[in-house]
Amino acid sequence: MSLASEVAESSQHSGGAAARGSREPVNVLIVGVGGQGVIMVSKVLASLCQAHGLQVKQSEVHGMAKRGGSVFSHVRFGKQVWSPTIPKGDVDILLALEWAEGLRWLPQLRAETGIFICDTKRIVPPFACLNRRQGAPMRYSRETPAEVIAHVAEAYAVDATRMADELGNERAANTVLVGALSTAMEFPLADWERVLAEFVPRKTVGVNLEAFRLGRSWIEEARRTAPDTSDPQGQGLAAAVVPSTVRVEIEAQWCKSCDICVKLCPERCLRLNSERIAELTDPAKCTGCRLCEWLCPDFAIRVHLQPAAAVA
Ligand code: SF4
Ligand code: SF4
Repeated sequence: MSLASEVAESSQHSGGAAARGSREPVNVLIVGVGGQGVIMVSKVLASLCQAHGLQVKQSEVHGMAKRGGSVFSHVRFGKQVWSPTIPKGDVDILLALEWAEGLRWLPQLRAETGIFICDTKRIVPPFACLNRRQGAPMRYSRETPAEVIAHVAEAYAVDATRMADELGNERAANTVLVGALSTAMEFPLADWERVLAEFVPRKTVGVNLEAFRLGRSWIEEARRTAPDTSDPQGQGLAAAVVPSTVRVEIEAQWCKSCDICVKLCPERCLRLNSERIAELTDPAKCTGCRLCEWLCPDFAIRVHLQPAAAVA
């Protein structure tokens, strides 16, 4: 595990926007797994704070730079910030891009006032498979959103991945969460959008701004009404723990014929076809272990674990 700490300090200490009703410095912890865009979210927030003349300290840990590994980033801002790392129990806002990662970091949140915003997206790691049978149970968090929310001062379980997917780009899920995060702070909307546009790929600015506004409006609505704790991912906790059906999606245009997935699939159910593109040869053998998805260097494979209801 590598610790990369970067400190960004602005020259002005003019005060300005901060988290709603929070003391200074404001402590934001952003967590997820490799490939979800934790660092991008962290940079957007740090840049926005700097643009408002606040002092910002940011530190981040990458799970050995491995996709699927644990990634987290501390962002602290205010008129004066002395340390880049947040003391345990002093997190004002915990923003989680993956469900189990969110639960893992909950003890860091301020007990009385902490805000927890978490994607209900569940990324079950390959080693969570308890055996190699298809549909075998997985070792993964069994807590439901309702159970978690009941124990946190202010919490939101957001189906950010599905929202982004419906906008046409699942990778914008982190931006949905940035939109949710923005409602907990007092920075002007136009400033959020301007900074966000600087950090996403140019051709995805439109969808990312849509995703940002969607996350923002979702959480504003959730504040007005009772938070939706009905597991809106539609995937269901039981489905995440015991997947009933597996669908392997291979994006042929992205496959570079490296053969890694073919060599490392434990069930030997992948091969390179005559055009040297990976393909699933025997879906019945695939256990949904997701090793191929993790190891593909070109993001060409996605493994979908589908509940019975979604398949019927
Ligand atoms: S195809 Fe992928 S998900 Fe299926 S068994 Fe092989 S490595 Fe696991
Ligand atoms: S690991 Fe990815 S790029 Fe390599 S053969 Fe498999 S799908 Fe193609």
